[in-house]
Amino acid sequence: MRWSKTLLTTLREDPKDAEIVSHKLMMRAGLLVKLEGGLYSYSPLGVRVLHKVEQIVREEMDRAGACEVLFTALQPISLWEESGRAGIMGKSMFRLRDRNDNTMVLGPTHEEVATDYLRTLVSSYRQLPATVYQIQTKFRDEIRPRFGLMRCKEFVMKDAYSFDLTSEDADVSYQKMYDAYLRIFKRCGLDAHPVEADTGAIGGNHSHEFMVLAPSGEDGILHCPACRYAANQERAERQAPPCDYATPSAEPRAKVATPGAHTVDEAAAALGIPSDQVVKSLVYLADGKPVMVLVRGNADLCEPKLRRLLGCGELEMADPETTARAAGPFGSIGPIGVSIPVYADYGLREARDVAVGAGEEGFHVAHCNLMDDPDVKIAQWADLATVVAGDRCPKCGAPLELARGIEVGHVFKLGLKYTKAMKFTVLDQNKQSVTPVMGCYGIGVSRTVQAIAEQNNDKDGIVWPAAVSPCQVALLQLDAKSEAVVAAVAEIESKLEAAGADVLVDDRDERPGIKFKDADLIGCTVRVTVGARSLEKGGVEIRLRRTGETQLVPVADAPAKILGLLAAN
Ligand SMILES: [Zn+2]
Repeated sequence: MRWSKTLLTTLREDPKDAEIVSHKLMMRAGLLVKLEGGLYSYSPLGVRVLHKVEQIVREEMDRAGACEVLFTALQPISLWEESGRAGIMGKSMFRLRDRNDNTMVLGPTHEEVATDYLRTLVSSYRQLPATVYQIQTKFRDEIRPRFGLMRCKEFVMKDAYSFDLTSEDADVSYQKMYDAYLRIFKRCGLDAHPVEADTGAIGGNHSHEFMVLAPSGEDGILHCPACRYAANQERAERQAPPCDYATPSAEPRAKVATPGAHTVDEAAAALGIPSDQVVKSLVYLADGKPVMVLVRGNADLCEPKLRRLLGCGELEMADPETTARAAGPFGSIGPIGVSIPVYADYGLREARDVAVGAGEEGFHVAHCNLMDDPDVKIAQWADLATVVAGDRCPKCGAPLELARGIEVGHVFKLGLKYTKAMKFTVLDQNKQSVTPVMGCYGIGVSRTVQAIAEQNNDKDGIVWPAAVSPCQVALLQLDAKSEAVVAAVAEIESKLEAAGADVLVDDRDERPGIKFKDADLIGCTVRVTVGARSLEKGGVEIRLRRTGETQLVPVADAPAKILGLLAAN
């Protein structure tokens, strides 16, 4: 590839809207070109990285026994109504109408289409297990697209779907995908960690995310240095923290005036007790029905946990009117005597002397015994609090640590969720009708591209691992007027390309300094400089991007030397 033909343009300055290093560098290196917020085109070099990651994914999916297919991006909403998900996806799903006024969606994911595909083709147990996958463009109407390819409206995903006769077989299919994911991310040069995760709108009962640790990551990950437990903050559990108020007070339950106290801290100050001893009461609407949630004063409710517990679709904080009717005004909400169901976090399980809102503006109730008070009816105790750094590991009790991560893959055990709703059955050995067990497995391919750049860069630019580098070799032609230089460049280029290496010849009429800077910015694995002066000195200068190691090599030996460096890096 000759630079002069690529329209490739690098930028000296960071684009204004780029917040994280990988987005800045991808834009500056000219790998992406912005159309508008959340929509990016790939340049000739950008698309090469994308294709290389796709190819690694493809090879490992094939190796794991999955078969490649290609579904349509456009899907009828009727399939989503069949699975019961039409409402759950909300505004994040692009909907449109065809000329016959049928509602269609631009697929954000393909569980329904995959299930329909299988039920069309499969009727016997002999055809299972089966895993299909595709690499395709997905669409999501993001509220706030940002971070370049990390969160955009159109992106490339690999999605796979497994179908098995039994739950045990489904576990085997899940493990094959899990192992394939570890191989994929390793080959991409990524340090990715599997963590237990929430299943969200996809559903199912068990899932792992593959996380690339990075300070810019949008997800919190709790991990245990002692036993290697790791989970997304939306999912992480903890051992209940010790309770300093497990003994009932000698004093009776009492309503106390707390004028102007609307937050937990204000109420605690008014009552002269620690914040942790004031119960935080919240009212939510779960599919439109009000429920109350109690957590410790210094804890936060983890909404995904509540959603999971209630098995609801829509979950939102109740409006002031609903809250006031059900449990009192904001700032004085409390569980005493309410008629809506109350769910309490395990962290309150020993709480026998706490303060709660009185359900009346300006008042709290002190010395409430949550465990035994006949006026407090707890519908269910559950793990509902957001786990934070320092909480105790659910497996071994050691203090958990918090890290940030970028989700690049997600694997789910779906069970019968889709196959049952969509009435997909097969006949087993005894001619009995059986509903297959399903799993689904996603990799954000375009997001993985950027995650690689997020994890592999230095002050000069991106340092692509050779396996996914947009050009493995940057061949800088410094003196275009010298016939010897032009001939040496052509010779090295043709030998490298014959050996299958990607070469970018910088044949622009630019100063050497600019060519050096751009090669580093783009992150070509090896930089080869061919100039009149280097030829006089006896060869070409070969420099490894990752280490800066430089050597002068005779033209005839250069291709073999370069190929050796690519193989080792
Ligand atoms: Zn542990």
